[in-house]
Amino acid sequence: MKKLDNPKLISAIDEYALFAREMILGDYNNKVLFDMVQEKGIELFGIWDAKYDGICIWNSETNKPQIYLNMEQSEERRLFTLAHELGHLFIDYEWSPNKKIESDQDKRVLSINFRDKDKASDTTEIKERIVNQFAGAFLMPKDKVEKVIADCDNKEDPECMILAVKKHFGVTYKAATNRLIMLEKIYVK
Ligand SMILES: [Zn+2]
Repeated sequence: MKKLDNPKLISAIDEYALFAREMILGDYNNKVLFDMVQEKGIELFGIWDAKYDGICIWNSETNKPQIYLNMEQSEERRLFTLAHELGHLFIDYEWSPNKKIESDQDKRVLSINFRDKDKASDTTEIKERIVNQFAGAFLMPKDKVEKVIADCDNKEDPECMILAVKKHFGVTYKAATNRLIMLEKIYVK
């Protein structure tokens, strides 16, 4: 797995993700993220097209971002895609709830997330890796992960930690694994 390896960059992204989480979710858990983003001014839609995981578009008529999620994928995957697209909004466009983005076009595509491509853990695109780090940290804040894995019967068992994180945060096995690797709770041999 190719991962970000600049500790300063990683902690800056994690901090920003925590700030974004607070703004969007407050004390709520990930389950209500689909509802909360809409409350915070994002228009959320479903798409049924195997080519994409997600797409983010700026709608200048409503002055709101629109995020499209592939409804053929599991809720766990859609959750990560949503957090990934939020990463593009917060990092690439410095968006925050109720903020406008200057755009001279009617509908501007902000980001397109092709299926299994830029979300793959070995993506070479640094921008995408940064956004993936944001998504992982947004959905699985470090202190919350530490609390969850403290409940594992066997503290040395990576499988127990991965499953506990997957269940608690409602993410995929892969997303849970990547986050635990980034937090140096488990190691890849
Ligand atoms: Zn992306």
